[in-house]
Amino acid sequence: MMQEQIYAQAIDTIRARRRAAQEQQEQRTDRIRQEIPETAELERQLRSVCMDIARLIGSGQCAEQIRAIEQQSSEADAMLRTLLTAHGYPADYLDLHYTCPLCSDTGFVNGKPCTCLEQEIGRISAEELNQHSRLALSSFETFSMQYYKKLPEEQYQAMEQNLCFCRQYAASFSPSVQNNILMLGNTGLGKTHLSLAVASVLLQNGFSVIYDSAGSMLHRLEQEHFGKRDGSDTLELLLSCDLLILDDFGTEFDTSFTRSMIYTIINSRINAGKPMIINTNLTSGEIKERYGDRILSRLLFASKILHFYGKDIRIQKRAQQNRS
Ligand SMILES: [Zn+2]
Repeated sequence: MMQEQIYAQAIDTIRARRRAAQEQQEQRTDRIRQEIPETAELERQLRSVCMDIARLIGSGQCAEQIRAIEQQSSEADAMLRTLLTAHGYPADYLDLHYTCPLCSDTGFVNGKPCTCLEQEIGRISAEELNQHSRLALSSFETFSMQYYKKLPEEQYQAMEQNLCFCRQYAASFSPSVQNNILMLGNTGLGKTHLSLAVASVLLQNGFSVIYDSAGSMLHRLEQEHFGKRDGSDTLELLLSCDLLILDDFGTEFDTSFTRSMIYTIINSRINAGKPMIINTNLTSGEIKERYGDRILSRLLFASKILHFYGKDIRIQKRAQQNRS
């Protein structure tokens, strides 16, 4: 499932919660109307008071009149609550009970994704990654040091330290502490494996993690930007999630649009103090050549650099299978 579908599914779930909350309130209201008929009159009063207030505000009436009507409204509301408790119901029985009181199950607060939406995206993403077994297979436990055994001592130790660093990073992660990792090295040396292992731990701990390859992330942003897709705001999610993992940085299609997006994402997250893990096969010289000195120096300055060494693990595995 693509990130866009995950986002759409998360929004659907949250809208369904809102509908359910409204339906449950209607059912409670019906029940109370039958059991306590006096409530119907109070409800009618409350509704007409609301309409009066709206009309007065619209016609620019003086504040005093509005206050008087508001007073009526709170009296009717208090009487309704008293009636409910007198009949053995909680005072807020007829209120709407949303799953998330922050956003009333809309998924957004002041136009920004609510924490409940981010959590839902995190949950679906985790499920999704698990389905593809990548996350399940890419745990710290399954990161095998045996593929690095033939390396010179110094490089073997560096790989061991990478593993150790990522474990600690995941265990002590805080979304408000700028703590970026820049993983440098050729394809097939375990960069994605360790990134997913971090993602797996964080998702289990309830953080929102977005993991995607730079190519597919930028492709989606481009389609949204040029109006070929709508209904989602990928950039907003990329900027707001607790951890952004940008895999295969440098393999995306190189256009002025992708360069400026990369610049926006990296700069905004560094400025906001939000952590990232960036994996790339490019050397620091190639990053500089492609994205410019500013991005490179910002990245180098703000990140822990992990160098990956070795021979492509996929090739090693294939050779092993052929031998056995
Ligand atoms: Zn919410």
